[in-house]
Amino acid sequence: MKRLVLAAAASAVLAACGDGSLDKKVLLIGLDGIRVDVLAEVPTPHLDSLIGAGLFSDAAQTADPTWSGPCWSSMLTGVWPEKHGVYSNRFEGKNYTTYPDFLTRLEQLDTAFNTFAVVDWLPLGWEVSGGPLLSDAIDRLLVFSGDQLGYADADSVSVLAAVEYLETADPDAAFVYIGNVDEVGHATSTLAPEYRAAMEVADAHVGALVAAVRRRPTYANEDWLILVSTDHGRTDDGGHGGYSPQEATIFYLAAGPSVVRGAPAEPPGVVDVAVTALVHLGVEIDPAWQLDGKVVGLASKP
Ligand SMILES: [Zn+2]
Repeated sequence: MKRLVLAAAASAVLAACGDGSLDKKVLLIGLDGIRVDVLAEVPTPHLDSLIGAGLFSDAAQTADPTWSGPCWSSMLTGVWPEKHGVYSNRFEGKNYTTYPDFLTRLEQLDTAFNTFAVVDWLPLGWEVSGGPLLSDAIDRLLVFSGDQLGYADADSVSVLAAVEYLETADPDAAFVYIGNVDEVGHATSTLAPEYRAAMEVADAHVGALVAAVRRRPTYANEDWLILVSTDHGRTDDGGHGGYSPQEATIFYLAAGPSVVRGAPAEPPGVVDVAVTALVHLGVEIDPAWQLDGKVVGLASKP
């Protein structure tokens, strides 16, 4: 059981909600390079199940430019590129000291938070190619090499590792990165059947992760917020980096007992992911952090 962050505020929340016995937890699943109009045409039963029980927008907006480096930075830190400083996949100018990823921020607030991440695009977790985005403050940070293993196999290994951790450990916040859809999009095209097939595999990974959460022996006493999103879309030929609607439009999916069902009134931004995760875990957002995101999809406290 984690210690409470900002105990006074947390007690107020517990008293107001009346569900203080539930342990708040977050699983963020990041699928690289999903174009939303193609996603809508692909059979994705596991995502559909979450959408049916949650909040979904296929009109969310990512960061500019639509490279993976800046977009994952915005999703995980909660700020736009002019603050985190990353405008390319070389990560030059990164300012993760001031704007850390949300798992690192949790650790900075209270090391009793149990944080987990698994990634297979190396600069997200390793000191290579300008990385890492995620810091070693995270309790368990697993990095597999998609370039060496192939992203399809690396994703499978990542998911196996995440399933084991979700079932056997006690994470409060977890991030699982799936890279192969983007890889296939580059190798073929956005309109190719291979790109759609990779999305179906990613959907199966989502299903395995959600099933692992639900198999937890303590699941009945927990309030899991499941967030699923992507970093950017792509043009028809499979590329990205510009700011066309096909590249900049992403999806935002939130599911769980604390989520309001339906569609958000306004299109979310990619920066809303980290902020929503932090608030679900009881963190009071300090204006001094200068976060750009807002809470999207959580039932407002009475
Ligand atoms: Zn990407």
